[in-house]
Amino acid sequence: MYKTILVPIDMAHVAKGKANVNLAASYGAQGAKVILLNVVDDIPNWAAVDLPEGLLDKSVKATKAELKAIAKASGMEMEVEVRIGHSYDTILEVAKKKKVDLILIASHRPGFQDYFLGSTAAKVVRHANCSVLVVR
Ligand code: ADP
Repeated sequence: MYKTILVPIDMAHVAKGKANVNLAASYGAQGAKVILLNVVDDIPNWAAVDLPEGLLDKSVKATKAELKAIAKASGMEMEVEVRIGHSYDTILEVAKKKKVDLILIASHRPGFQDYFLGSTAAKVVRHANCSVLVVR
């Protein structure tokens, strides 16, 4: 049983994320903390000049609301985090900072059955200091 579980969710594949959220309940010790995390890709400066102002902030806000709705629907008490950055770096950084003892991550995006591991999942498995459960 784990005390602090991190569930990184790719908002392009929310159904997979929701399934992992429910799974987190089974792996958590009594009173365990579950953290839902999405990493929003940063926009490089050269591209940002052509985009509407505040686009990234809006995206963070909308994502936070979506994660909160997922947490509420699960019926469990959860923490919600939205960060801007690179997915795997940020997942590892949050895991370290929050003293996570289990990362529960999907193996790859749905439909890519031939892949052993997606690029984010592979890097998280390779570099995490805690246990990682890869969900197929
Ligand atoms: P693929 O390379 O097939 O897209 P990934 O390794 O990127 O596969 O995705 C597998 C899992 O990694 C996702 O289901 C999710 O759990 C996590 N993940 C990927 N991108 C993000 C992201 N931007 N924020 C949070 N989690 C992510």
